[in-house]
Amino acid sequence: MSLWYVLRPDAIKVWENPVVVERLRWYYDVMRDRKPAKFMICKRLDAGCDPSKLSLEELWKLHDDLSKEFGRVWSMICSDELSLDELPRPKFSYLDVKIEIAKRILLSCHFCEHRCGVNRLSGERGFCRLDYRTYVHSWFHHYGEEAPLVPSGTIFYGSCNFRCVFCQNWDISQEHPLDGVEVDAWRLALMQKELRKTGARNINHVGGEPTPNLHTILESLKYLDVNVPQLWNSNMYCSVETMKLLKDVIDIWLPDFKYGNNKCAERLSGIKNYWEVVTRNLKIAAESAPMIIRHLVLPNHIECCTRPVLKWIADNIKDKVLVNVMEQYRPEWLVSKYPEKWPDISRRLRSSEIEEAYAIARELGIVYEPVS
Ligand code: SF4
Repeated sequence: MSLWYVLRPDAIKVWENPVVVERLRWYYDVMRDRKPAKFMICKRLDAGCDPSKLSLEELWKLHDDLSKEFGRVWSMICSDELSLDELPRPKFSYLDVKIEIAKRILLSCHFCEHRCGVNRLSGERGFCRLDYRTYVHSWFHHYGEEAPLVPSGTIFYGSCNFRCVFCQNWDISQEHPLDGVEVDAWRLALMQKELRKTGARNINHVGGEPTPNLHTILESLKYLDVNVPQLWNSNMYCSVETMKLLKDVIDIWLPDFKYGNNKCAERLSGIKNYWEVVTRNLKIAAESAPMIIRHLVLPNHIECCTRPVLKWIADNIKDKVLVNVMEQYRPEWLVSKYPEKWPDISRRLRSSEIEEAYAIARELGIVYEPVS
């Protein structure tokens, strides 16, 4: 019996739940090596030309055509009408087109909806404080994630495009984001390979936030030669362009959906248009791959955040996703230093608040228990 099974027997048991299996079907099949991860399919679709020779406009046109072709091929692979081995290995692939577009975006960065427009390749830095370089602070098998994900091959990237005053990873996201190991795409691929070869069920891109590192992550998949589900563990403040680059690559989404309105998002995370951006992206993501949504319940934010978040999920994507209603909020980072500035969130949750959050989820018919 392996150690992780002893630590997390629920990670085995969870697959006896037919709702979990049904909603996470694609992820489950890739995890068990019954299907190829989406990035492996992207590598088999012929771009037909060298992407580096195209303008950005031409690249997007080609990308969108290839996305349609991906949809056709993917559905044939889902229904066992086609296998990866039947597809050729082109000189330039759909993945190469994505990599090239990501490099061009770096010249005037809009990986996320801050849309800083800085030239990160020349060393400029935007809101996330990153130039073109990617820093990894740690990578290991994570046993604390949701049961279907454990052991999760987690890679923690430095820096973030949010400024959450209660951040629990503040050391790598806010205070010392550049103190990690600088990695290029090749090294990142080796990390992923090692994680998978030693038993990870997935590669969990997290931080901080993975979004500002999209260019390195996409390029790493070019060098990655093992089958492993790609998991995007994000605040989902991605731009539409980033969502387009990701949606045919990610096998399972693990988004945070914290705030039920823009006022709370701006006051507690320094983010504008949170609601419009995140709900737009969640819809795109839910159409493209399985998803487990995390909602961190905040003290005193049941009515303004928990209720509208769960209501939106119930009204829009309830039957496609699983939801983890999280009760482990702790006042950390700036809230622990200056609790008088954010009195509403300067304590842990009361048991009555936790019960209320679960009651709302139950009332709305949201499936949350199998993964909590
Ligand atoms: S990733 Fe987002 S925050 Fe960072 S420079 Fe690009 S647009 Fe700005």
